[in-house]
Amino acid sequence: MNSKPPIQVSIHPADRMSGLPAQFFAGLVRKANAQTAKGRDVINLGQGNPDQPTPSHIVHRLQAAAANPLYHKYPPFSGFTFLKEAVANRYQEDYGVELDPEKEVAVLFGGKTGLVEISQCLLNPGDVCLVPDPGYPDYWSGVALAGGVMEYMPLVADNGFLPDYSAIPAPIANKAKLMFINYPNNPTGAVAGSDFYARTVEFAAKHGIAVASDFAYGAIGFDGQKPASFLQTPGAKETGVEFYTLSKTYNMAGWRVGFALGNADIVHLINLIQDHYYCSLFGGIQEAAAEALNGPQNCVAELSSMYEARRNTVYKALQQIGWEAQKPGGSFFCWLPVPSDHTSASFADLVLEQADVVLAPGIGFGNHGEGYVRLGLLASEARLEEAIHRIGRLGLFG
Ligand code: PLP
Repeated sequence: MNSKPPIQVSIHPADRMSGLPAQFFAGLVRKANAQTAKGRDVINLGQGNPDQPTPSHIVHRLQAAAANPLYHKYPPFSGFTFLKEAVANRYQEDYGVELDPEKEVAVLFGGKTGLVEISQCLLNPGDVCLVPDPGYPDYWSGVALAGGVMEYMPLVADNGFLPDYSAIPAPIANKAKLMFINYPNNPTGAVAGSDFYARTVEFAAKHGIAVASDFAYGAIGFDGQKPASFLQTPGAKETGVEFYTLSKTYNMAGWRVGFALGNADIVHLINLIQDHYYCSLFGGIQEAAAEALNGPQNCVAELSSMYEARRNTVYKALQQIGWEAQKPGGSFFCWLPVPSDHTSASFADLVLEQADVVLAPGIGFGNHGEGYVRLGLLASEARLEEAIHRIGRLGLFG
């Protein structure tokens, strides 16, 4: 008998794979699952997944649209015009911002995709990108894939968790090609006003930097304050783009619908790279996404009020246990200082092991996240209250 040698190919990953940042939060998920597997009643406030369902009028629209044979074919490369018009109309109505649906709107598979793609569109290996610290880790992923170099903009409580542009050395600012900003902010819950965006446009224009404004939590503002959009600032469209997503606004995280809006050159580049990666979203999803944007918006106001009520419940409970923290002005995150004899990771481990509560350690968002944990307002008020009281019983505060 002819016996062939076994086929063996060793797989050698490309260098760019080893440059990807470590997935810090994968470890958190593993620890939480291990605790649940022991039969413990774990309250998971460590992640950023909306806990409420998508409003039913949007779901029904997808159900009907799924039967449309037009959507069973390939969708147009850069998405259906009706969806681009829907997001342009929403920006006009909500922010008074004019967008050309064909030239100033790119449809994305969720904001995350665009946040990674923009670095690939704009950065050559070695190019500098300014990123917030603490910040959303997907910015790092895009910069790493492009071979770019990150320079960190510290976000500290004394400056309202806004970057201080005057503290960035001129040689670094002059080398930077791209910068990320994100308000309402993940993880700090800080909100930016129009004066901050005006300073951003001025700084970016002076140093020739493209701005990527991540507006994922744009719909969630508290205490009667509606978060401002970067694109409302004079000169913003000349300077950069805003990333907008349906994930949080309409509880559509699993649907994967987002947009890059604003600067026509950047929108063109994002559409171009996407022409090589994808062929746009399923048409039925695009139709339902347009329904979300064009349809009744009371669900958005109700969602924001729900998070505000949860925030208030959490802060009342925090006060009761003697844990002092600043209230977030938007997003669905609370950024809580840990006791001085703990690191963010040791504190998160302790509350998971002894109180069965999952919180995200701030160090996972960057060095300036040390000293904090992030709590997501992603459970009922009763569960949130229970979580804080469980932590209170550990006797670490007050
Ligand atoms: N930006 C921030 C700050 C986020 O927290 C998230 C999701 O958690 C996203 C962007 C990405 O949202 P999506 O890809 O679901 O649109």
